[in-house]
Amino acid sequence: MQPNNMAESIQFDREEIRARYREERDKRLRSDANAQYIATNGIHSRFRQDPFAGELIERAPVTKSTEVLIIGAGLAGILSGVRLRKAGFDDIRIVDQAAGFGGTWYWNRYPGIQCDIESYIYLPLLEEMGYMPTQKYAQGAEIRAYLQGIAKHNGLYGDTLFQTTIAGLDWQREQGSWAVSTDRGDEFSAQYVFVCNGPFAQPKLPGISGIEDFEGHTFHTSRWDFEYTGGDENGGLDKLSDKRVGIIGTGATGIQCVPHLGKYSKHLFVFQRTPSAVDVRANRPTDEEWFKSQIPGWQQARMQNFVSVVHGADENEDLVSDGWTKITRELTGLAVARESKRLGRKLTSEERQEFLEMADIRTMENIRNRVETVVSDSETAEHLKPWYARWCKRPCFHDEFLDTFNRDNVSLVDTNGKGVQEITAKGVVVDGQLYELDCLIFSTGFEVGTNFAGRLGFEINGVGSDPLSAKWENGLKTLHGMYTAGFPNLFFTGTTQTGVTYNYTHMVLEQTAHLAHVLKSTKDRNLGRIEATKDGEADWVNEIRRLARRGTAYYEQCTPGYFSGEGDLEDPNGILSGSYGAGPVAFFELLRDWREEGGFKGLELK
Ligand code: NDP
Repeated sequence: MQPNNMAESIQFDREEIRARYREERDKRLRSDANAQYIATNGIHSRFRQDPFAGELIERAPVTKSTEVLIIGAGLAGILSGVRLRKAGFDDIRIVDQAAGFGGTWYWNRYPGIQCDIESYIYLPLLEEMGYMPTQKYAQGAEIRAYLQGIAKHNGLYGDTLFQTTIAGLDWQREQGSWAVSTDRGDEFSAQYVFVCNGPFAQPKLPGISGIEDFEGHTFHTSRWDFEYTGGDENGGLDKLSDKRVGIIGTGATGIQCVPHLGKYSKHLFVFQRTPSAVDVRANRPTDEEWFKSQIPGWQQARMQNFVSVVHGADENEDLVSDGWTKITRELTGLAVARESKRLGRKLTSEERQEFLEMADIRTMENIRNRVETVVSDSETAEHLKPWYARWCKRPCFHDEFLDTFNRDNVSLVDTNGKGVQEITAKGVVVDGQLYELDCLIFSTGFEVGTNFAGRLGFEINGVGSDPLSAKWENGLKTLHGMYTAGFPNLFFTGTTQTGVTYNYTHMVLEQTAHLAHVLKSTKDRNLGRIEATKDGEADWVNEIRRLARRGTAYYEQCTPGYFSGEGDLEDPNGILSGSYGAGPVAFFELLRDWREEGGFKGLELK
C-alpha cells in the first residue's frame, strides 16, 4: 500500500532539510543555465524528423489568400479554429509540420503516454461533442483521436496544409495583410494570423560531450521509434527483449515510459540527474452513471472549480480532487485561510511564510517516504528521493514508476546531480564507468525559455524595421500575452505573458474565446486592423515584471529546472518573466472585465 495521506505527524528538522535542499541545489547550479542544452537542428535534426508521417504527400503550391491563417494544428490551433468558425469566420487555413492534428499529442506517442490533468477538464468541448472519456486520466492515443474528432466536427480539415513549415511572415503595408511563405513553395496572403506553436514544441538534447559519437540506435521520446522497439503507445515493446537500453531523463515523460522499457528491455539503465517527485496517480475508468448525471454547463464549472482550487481562490468544494488539488489545498492561500480560521486570527506575514514552508516540507517528506515504501533496495530508494521544495519542479504522478526499480533487469544510474559525463560510440559514461548500450533514448524535454522567435523557426517582419526576434530578444513584450505593437493582426496563444495554469486547455479556451470576440467586434464595425498600442503593451509588460518578482524568493532556493530558468532567475526569456504572476483566475477576470468595458483599451482598431 502506497501512502497518500498527508501525515501531520511526520517528524523532521527544518534546518537539516533546508541545508539538504541548498546542498542539492548547489550541486546542480551551472553558469550555462539554459545554454547547456542543444537544439535539435543542424547535425541533430534527425531527432525531430517525423516517424509517424509516412510518405510526403505531393501537392501544388497554394497561392489563394485566406482570411485567417492559424500556425499550429494542436490544441490551441484547433480551438482557435473552432472559436473563429463560431464567430462567423469561414475562411480559415491551418498549417502544421505534422501530418495530422494533435500538436503535442501528435508528436508524443511514447509508451505509457497519459495526460496528468483530469480528462473531464482537459479534453475540451466534451458536452458539445457528446463524448465521455474512458478514464479519469486519458491516454495519449485517446486524446489525439478526440482532438482529430473536434477538427473534423468543425470542418477544419478542408483547407489545412499538413507537412508544411512556415518559412516567413511579412506585413504588407499597402494591402494591410500578411504575406506568408512556406517550405512547400506556398505564397499567399492572410488578413489575420494566429500563432499557436505550443509551449513544448521543440525537442532538445543535453549538451553532453560525445553525443554525436554514439553508434547504437537513438531517438528522442517525442519521436518514438516503434519500428525499432516494437509495440505502441500502450506498450508491448517486444523487439527490445535482446537490447541493452539506456534512457536519459526522469521528468514527466521519463517516468511514464520507464515502466514499459523496464518490462521489455533485456536490461534498462535509467540515467538520472534529479529525481522527480512522484505522487500517487490512482487512475480509474469513468463511472458512466456519474458522467451521465452531469447537468449542462458542468464542464466549464468543473474547469473553473479546478483553476480556483489550484490557484488558492476560495472554493468550498474540490470537484476534481486529485494530486494537483491535494498539493494546492495544502500549500496555497486556501491552507493559510484554514489555519487563520483555526487560530481565530490572521497570520502575520512571517507566520504565513513559516506555515507554508512547514506544509511544503511535509508534502515532500510524504513523497520521500513513498519512495522508501515502494523501492526495496535502500540505496536505490535514497537516490530516488527528491530534495527540493514542492514547486521547484513539475509535480509527477505515477503508480508503476518507482516499482520498476524492483526489477532485476533495471538499474538506476544516479549521477549525483552532475548529469551524464560523456557519451561514446559504445554507450554512456557516468563517474568514469562506461555503460554499454544498444539503444539510447533521450527523455530530455523541450526548449522552454529560449528566444521565442528562435523556437518558432521563422522570422516575422512587422511594420517597423525590427523583426520579432529582435523585438523579443530580451524577453516577450505583449498586451495580455496576445498582441505585440508593430505587428498588426498577429495573435499569440499559449504561455506568452498570460495567466498560465496547469490545465492548458482551460487557458487556451479562454484566450481563443477572447480573441474571437476581438476579431468579430472589429469585423462588425467594418474595421480590419488590430494592433496593440505602445502604451498598452508597456503597461502590461510592467505589470508582468512587477508580479513576477513575487515568486523569485521561492525559486531562489530551488534545484534548477525550467520553472526557474534552469537556475538563472534573471533570464528575460524564463518562465517567471513570461507569465502573469497574479494567476489565471485573476487573468480570466481581467479579460472578462476588459471585454465588458468595451473600449478595447490598449488596442488600436482601424
Ligand atoms: P523535462 O524537461 O521535464 O525533463 C528532462 C529530463 O532530462 C530531466 O530529468 C533532466 O534532469 C534530464 N536531463 C537533462 N539534461 C541531462 C543531463 N545532461 N544528464 C542527465 N539528465 C539530464 O522534460 P519532459 O519531457 O519530461 O517533460 C516536459 C514537460 O512536458 C513536463 O514538465 C510537462 O509539463 C509536460 N508533460 C506532461 C505529461 C503529462 O501530462 N503526463 C507527460 C510528459 C510531459 P534535471 O531535472 O536535473 O534537469
